[in-house]
Amino acid sequence: MGTEKVPSSIIQFASLDKLLALGRANSLWPMTFGLACCAIEMMAAGAGRFDLARFGAEVFRPSPRQSDVMIVAGTITKKMAPAVKTLYDQMAEPKWVIAMGNCAISGGPFKFDKNYSVVEGADQFLPVDVYIPGCPPRPEALIEGILVLEEKITGKRRWPRVVPT
Ligand code: SF4
Repeated sequence: MGTEKVPSSIIQFASLDKLLALGRANSLWPMTFGLACCAIEMMAAGAGRFDLARFGAEVFRPSPRQSDVMIVAGTITKKMAPAVKTLYDQMAEPKWVIAMGNCAISGGPFKFDKNYSVVEGADQFLPVDVYIPGCPPRPEALIEGILVLEEKITGKRRWPRVVPT
């Protein structure tokens, strides 16, 4: 049995994929929209004190056509959910979703018996990539979530996580 030679074109495509992933991960364009209080923390993350620009994700776009990451920041009411889904559908591929805050993860403080108006998490109707817990999460937590998303896109850890003992 002889060894098979891998065609060089395959190797080149693999490298191109990695290069594209690196570019995408380091130039995420979030969509400008917020649903409730968590959105204030999202705005703070983009402002001077926290400076999301350090991680290449500061270009918030006013149109889903120009965005590749949807940060679901706030309470999703059943009335609002179809509009959120429409915005997601209008984003071009490849696209990612971050669920920011307990409301976007599970309904948060509005998840209780006989609540009829709140969706219990963005993952009920969107493919969520990263969950950021908190009520609200601080801007640093959003930045951490964006770094985790970047790692997911490139498939590479930026640095080893420090696990408290
Ligand atoms: S998780 Fe807390 S801070 Fe965020 S939208 Fe819900 S209630 Fe507001």
